Amino acid sequence: MTPLLQKAIDGNRLSPAEALDILKNAPWTQVAEAANIVRHRINPGNKVGYTAFRIVNYTNVCEVTCSFCSFCRPAKSPEAYTLSLDEIRQKTLEAKAKGADHIFLQGGVNRDIPLSYYTDVLKMLTRELGVKVRGFSPVELVRIAEFNNMELGDLLDTLKEAGLSSVPGAGAEILSDRMRQMLSPKKLPAQQWCDTLAACHKKGLPGSANIVFGSVETPEEIIEHLNYVRETQDIAQGFKSFVVWTFQPQTDKFPIRHVRGDEYLKLLALSRLFLDNIPHIEVSLLGMGLSLGELGLHAGADDINSIVIEENVLKNHGLTTIAEAEEFIRNAGFIPYRRSLNFD
Ligand code: SF4
Repeated sequence: MTPLLQKAIDGNRLSPAEALDILKNAPWTQVAEAANIVRHRINPGNKVGYTAFRIVNYTNVCEVTCSFCSFCRPAKSPEAYTLSLDEIRQKTLEAKAKGADHIFLQGGVNRDIPLSYYTDVLKMLTRELGVKVRGFSPVELVRIAEFNNMELGDLLDTLKEAGLSSVPGAGAEILSDRMRQMLSPKKLPAQQWCDTLAACHKKGLPGSANIVFGSVETPEEIIEHLNYVRETQDIAQGFKSFVVWTFQPQTDKFPIRHVRGDEYLKLLALSRLFLDNIPHIEVSLLGMGLSLGELGLHAGADDINSIVIEENVLKNHGLTTIAEAEEFIRNAGFIPYRRSLNFD
């Protein structure tokens, strides 16, 4: 084991320069081994968590037009939609029938939606149907506040009062302003993304963070991303988990490269070592498939995120029932447990 990996195993914080050294130079097998030791120190008991939620894409209208997104449509497109309350109710009832107890509201930046739509949806989901709701990416929140001439904090109070209990760390991709200019210049700059999530966390709206890699990002930018996340967590402690994703081919407007399995596992493992203030690491079964996901559980991850009830963006490489999730975890050598949305 290299001295830097031993440092992390011993519970000492890695600097960004040390993490970069590991990313560039350490053998991936040793990084995975070290991360597995740290994972069992932070989360003892050989348990692996999962959840059951449905993603509800409430609108596909979005003016941000990220280069990698095939989901968004202009407001005047014949394919543009915004779901009615009743359509969201029906989707939620279907998901509940399959065992889901959380809804993940995900849409676009759509200035035609009034604030009352969001509060009505949240009240219906939480008070009428009794599900928990995670929703709205930082750029959605910042723009909703702007469209309604509100301070972000007041908007968060309003949404929380209506029933919102968690905000995802969505739209991070790579937290480097060079990459953000290339991928999604109309999204929030890296520091504003962090500040928005910290504001959510301070309001009692925790969530997760992620990285999406596999484009033309550099190793330095990957470490910059991890450091933004760790610094934000030091401030507000609202990231309950961290997920490592890879870009999936959706458009031909930006470059995607093949991410090898060892490259994925090394970054997953390094995330466990570097993010010493985030309790859980989730493996991406959707993006990387079940075999690599199983290896990820031996390389720092202790959670498989959610079974797939609906996924508009990615084709299904995941698990679709609670029984499948539990069998997958048992077959990988762990004890499955169903966790809550916010790991509480
Ligand atoms: S903000 Fe989200 S919905 Fe809008 S273009 Fe970007 S990825 Fe697509």
